[in-house]
Amino acid sequence: MQRIRNMGLRLTPQRIAILEYLDGNVNHPSAEEIYNAVAKKYPTISFATVYNTLETLKRKKGILELTIDPRRRRYDPNTEPHHHIICVQCRKVADVHADFDLRLPESNVEGFKVLSKQVEFYGICPECDNQN
Ligand SMILES: [Zn+2]
Ligand SMILES: [Zn+2]
Repeated sequence: MQRIRNMGLRLTPQRIAILEYLDGNVNHPSAEEIYNAVAKKYPTISFATVYNTLETLKRKKGILELTIDPRRRRYDPNTEPHHHIICVQCRKVADVHADFDLRLPESNVEGFKVLSKQVEFYGICPECDNQN
C-alpha cells in the first residue's frame, strides 16, 4: 500500500478504496470482482474508473495482471516473483511460492533477452475435489 502511495498516483477516495481492497488480497480478483466490492462502499463508482485505475497501477508496476484464466484477467497486488495455480472447475487462483530453475540456455531463446517468467499450474482445488 505504501509502495503504491509512493508512486505519485493521484489518490481519490475511490482509488483509495480500490487500493484497500487489493492490499494483501491473495484471491487474484478480476476487474469485475474489484468493481463489485468497491461499489458496495462507493455506489457511484463506474466500472471504467476501476478498470482505468487497474491499468494505471499495472503500468506503474504496482500490481500484476495475470493471464492464467483465459476468461478474465486477474490482478495481483503481490508483485514479487511467484507462480500460480488455477482450479479448472471453479477458476480459483492460488499462489505457488517455489523456486524453479528456469534459466534457459541462450541458444534456446532466439536471441531474446528474458525479462520475467511465470509457471502456470492447472489443477483441482480442495473444495472442488471434495465434491467429486
Ligand atoms: Zn475449485
Ligand atoms: Zn499471486
